[in-house]
Order: sequence, then structure tokens, then C-alpha cells
Amino acid sequence: MKSLWNDKEAKVFLQDPLALRVYTSRLLGRDMSLVMHGGGNTSVKAQIKDFFGLQQEVLYIKGSGWDLATIEAKGFAAVKMDALLRMVRVKNLSDTDMVREQRAAMLDPNAPNPSVEAILHAIIPYKYVDHSHTDAVVTITNTPDGRKRIEEIYGERILIVPYVMPGFLLARKVYEMTKLMDWSQYDGIVLLNHGLFTFADTAQESYENHIKLVTKAEEHLNGSSKRSLMSKSIVMARSAFRPKGNLLELAQLRQAVSSIQGDAVVALWKDDKHSVAFSCLTKVKSMATRGTLTPDHVIRTKPKPVIIDKSIDADVSAYAKTYKKYFERYTDGNLKCLDLAPRWAVWPGAGVVSFGRSLGEAKIISDILDHTMEAIQKAEAMGGWKPVNEKDLFDVEYWDLEQAKLSKGPKPKGLIGKVALVSGAASGIGRACVERLIANGANVLGLDIKDGPHVMRCDVTKESDIKNAIESIVRRFGGLDIVISNAGIFPPSMNLDAMDPASWEKSMQLNLTSHQRLMKAAIPYLSYGIDPTIIIIASKNVPAPGPGAGAYSVAKAGLTQLGRVAALELGAKGIRVNMIHPNQVFDTAIWTKEVLEKRAHHYGLSVEEYKTNNILHTEITSKDVADLVCTMAGKTFLKTTGAQIPIDGGNERVI
Ligand SMILES: [Zn+2]
Repeated sequence: MKSLWNDKEAKVFLQDPLALRVYTSRLLGRDMSLVMHGGGNTSVKAQIKDFFGLQQEVLYIKGSGWDLATIEAKGFAAVKMDALLRMVRVKNLSDTDMVREQRAAMLDPNAPNPSVEAILHAIIPYKYVDHSHTDAVVTITNTPDGRKRIEEIYGERILIVPYVMPGFLLARKVYEMTKLMDWSQYDGIVLLNHGLFTFADTAQESYENHIKLVTKAEEHLNGSSKRSLMSKSIVMARSAFRPKGNLLELAQLRQAVSSIQGDAVVALWKDDKHSVAFSCLTKVKSMATRGTLTPDHVIRTKPKPVIIDKSIDADVSAYAKTYKKYFERYTDGNLKCLDLAPRWAVWPGAGVVSFGRSLGEAKIISDILDHTMEAIQKAEAMGGWKPVNEKDLFDVEYWDLEQAKLSKGPKPKGLIGKVALVSGAASGIGRACVERLIANGANVLGLDIKDGPHVMRCDVTKESDIKNAIESIVRRFGGLDIVISNAGIFPPSMNLDAMDPASWEKSMQLNLTSHQRLMKAAIPYLSYGIDPTIIIIASKNVPAPGPGAGAYSVAKAGLTQLGRVAALELGAKGIRVNMIHPNQVFDTAIWTKEVLEKRAHHYGLSVEEYKTNNILHTEITSKDVADLVCTMAGKTFLKTTGAQIPIDGGNERVI
């Protein structure tokens, strides 16, 4: 591993200990094999003047919720050193009390919560302290003779601490081990099954020492695991004997996990060659279920994945039962069980799949898996993958502080985890639907022949384009729940006796037939959707047609009839199909100024009168329609199908 320290870059920070702390923290954060997604922590001790001008010795410690890769000065909390040093002498302190006392000792109450390792950082008598969950060191310690190997690699200049729960217990343990010790005899601390600490009086030395120690571990790892990997002990592909996964099975897996979780999740399928190779290992079932790379991953990944072995549904429900038992085995009776759903799956022959309430959450798990899969194989090659045991993982998974971290943040939005497809998404109602669905938490792919935000190029009159689009959305998010069938055109006004056949055909093709094709391609995936629904954007012209709009009105009437038949056919699969009849929405591409003036003139109205020509005298906007779409896609309309909902300001020809 190479040091990323750069004298030129660092020069500007040399006078400011905190700025320098930010700089080297980010250097650590840049390498995902050291820390990822909020893991690890760093600190610097400094003398500062408080509000009253009094000199205070403080520990600037990484705030919880901050990521080392992107941390800023305000991501560090300044905590009074004397309070931290007093706390470590208390024999028993719950982590909740510890966090409260740490907060009470902060100079700025608006700073983030100090990391739970603040006390440990405080007792290390050096200015700079760096802590990572380095893959290399942790992988070595996650083997049966890990401790021995660490002694061999580093000799006597490393303090080895057996695994204890992070937080106060760990700080206390290190305190007991070191209170009579001369710190200068050590270059760092290896926490078995957890990570590495280094320390020094300069930021550069602490950071570079960290890199040096990690490099030694990497060299050891490459030497030993490469030799053993050759020995064929663990590599044995069975992909040849199993069908590879397909997108329909992926949707089925996502549905099974969502139903156990109680809400929609995104399923991110990793089928790169490393993931597929891992899923094909003969011992994958045993290896993947022994535990996490470092304990705090358990918060994201749970202790074990589900292994897709027999049938997707049976495997996922068996996982839920096993998880329940695991909880019951260790709960003290006061804990609240998390949902029983897995956070990732091993899919033999196909790779691995991670699940999250959002794509971001699933991606974090996916990153963790990249590192975990590699560590498992290297450790197994060195004599056996042996991470922290189940009980210790449970303690971290059900740790008050960790649970609190996850429950922070705003209440989940109504369509979170849902996957939606919107046709005709580059402008008007379609574009508004994309925006509103995303604002409601859904994962959205828009289709259009034109470009737009979140839009994939697709000509919905071409079956190959449709197939490609549906497969893209399933591959991206793991399934499909909501189809907003919206693509349309408004042909030039023409009476029936003057109808241009090409204009008629074009309207039929886009306003009617393309919707049937999109529906046909979507139905197999919607069958595995979460509260699946198709929402058809029809028109006010269906119940109240106007002269000159035959090609449009007839196609939209056909589209409505298509929706009614679909509601009948798809009810048994739990797929709802409803239609919306918007009044003219004038902020769409269809309504050019010219068309608008022509239609207004046709009715002898001004443009303004024409726009609000309804019982409520109100203009309907594409955002109004999009809001209705979101409501109809959500829980309020769970028991409605085959319905035609107007959004037209009231029409006296219909009422
Ligand atoms: Zn840690």
C-alpha cells in the first residue's frame, strides 16, 4: 500500500493541527481497503481557547455519521480531555451514559456526536491517532492462528488486543492493558477481528506508520494466501452445473425479501467475475455464513446472507425463521427484533445480490461485499475464515448506539424502495411524474425518444426497444412495481372526412398499440412486483370528446378499454390497473402556442378562458397529474382497480 502523503498538499495545513487532521483522515478515507462508509476514526489533541478565553485541552475526534473520505473540520467534535480521562477510570459505564457524558464535555453542543472510540483515542498519549478497519490486518486476524501470525509479522512492536465490544469496554480493556506501560515501545495496536490503531506526534508519522503496518500485513497475506490458493482446496466451480440466474428470478428474489421485510427493497445484482466465482465455491454456504469482516459491518449486512440453494421463496422464508431464532437465542428480553429479511444473498452460479431501502443503501452493502468476499477467500486459504463469533456480532447488531444511528434521519417516504417506469418521460406529464415519484422515494427510469433527466432513449413503438428498457430497469433496481403508461402525441386537428391516414395510423400506433406492447413486456416482472400497478394516462377526451380530435380521442378510448381489460386479466396476479383522465395540461410539449390559440379560437374563447374552461375554473398542470399518479401508486389506492379517475376541474358534459 502506498502512502498518499504529499508534502506540497500538506504544506498549507502545517500550522493548523485540525486542518492537517482533516487532510490525513481523507487520505485514509480514499482507500476502501482501509475504511469505508463511515468506518474507522481519527483524532488530534490540541490546546484551544474556549468561549471565555480559557485554555482547554481537547480531543478533536471524528463525529459519528461522518465519513473519513469526505470529512471536514466541522465533522470533528472537540471534547474536553480531562472528562474523557476521568470516564475511563469508571469501572462500569453504559455506552448510552458514555455518549451523554461525552456530549456534556463538548465545547460546542452543535458539533456531531463524538465517535464511540473517543475515550480510547484520549488515553493514547500521542497527538495524532489513526484507526482503520484495514482489510489486510483484519483478514489475518480472522484466521485460527491469526494472533500468532500478527506476532510473526510485527514482532514485539505491536500491542495485540483480543476482541472486545467496541466502545467503552474496548477503551477500558486497552486502559487496563496499558496503564503501567511505556507506549514508546509500540508502533501500533492490532485489535483482533476489528482493526488497527497507529499514533504519533505528527499527522504524517501516524498516517505513514499506518500505511507501513498495513503493507507488512498485505505482503504476508499475498505470500501465504497465493500459495494456498494454488492448492485447489477452496476453488471448485459449480457454475457449470447450475443455470445462471435470470432477471425474472432476480425480481422473484426481491419480492420474497421485500415481503419478509414488510416493505419494498431494491435488489442489486453483482454478477462480475469475482462475485460469480465466489458464489460458485463449493464451501460457499459455510464460508459466507460465519460472520462479517469487521464487526460494524453487521449493522449493514446482518451476520449472515441468505443462500439461494433450493427455491427462492423457501430459502428466504427459512432465512427469516433462522434469524428469528438467532434473535431469541441472545436477546435479554428487552430488545426489539429487527425485520427478519436478509441484507444480501449468495446466488450460486449467478453471483451475489444486496438489498436496501434505497439504491444507495444496497450499494454500500455491495461495496462491503467486495471486500468481504476477498477476505473470506484469503483467510480460508490461510487455514480457515474465522471472524468474530455470532454472540459478539449480535451485541454489535443490537447495540443501542448502532440502532440509534440507523433510525436517525427523516421518516421514510411513501414510495421508498419502489421501482417505477414512466413512458414519455422527457416532458410534460411524464417528466412531472418522474420528478414526483423520485421525490416520494421511488427509483425511476423514464423512457422517451428524447433526452431528459433520468430518461433512457426508447422508441415505445419498437418491441426491441421496449424489451431492452424493461430489462434495464430490472437489472438496475431488481424488479418493477409501477408502470406509468404515458407516451402520447396530439395529432393536428382534422375532421373524420378529411382524416389523413398517416396521422390516424400514427396516433393509433403511439397512443394505443405501444401501450399494449409496453404492458405485455412489463407484466411478467410486475407479477413479482410489490403492490404492483399500471397507471394509464388516458384523457378527458374519452368521456367528453371534441370535434376534430378523432385520431386522438379514438386511440385514447381504445387505451381506456385496454386498461379495463387489463384490470380484469391482471387482478388474479394482484396487479392493479387504473386510468387517469386529465383535462388538457397546457405545460406539455403537445400544447404549442399555436395549437393553444387555434383550440381557444375554435371554441370562441381567450387562451386564459380556454385553459380554465371547467366547472372549478382552474388550470390543471402536469404536476397536479403527477401528484395524483403518486397517490394512485401508493397505499391509498391499494384496493382500487379498473377505475377511471378524472382530473379536469369538473366537466359539465360528464357530470
Ligand atoms: Zn473500529
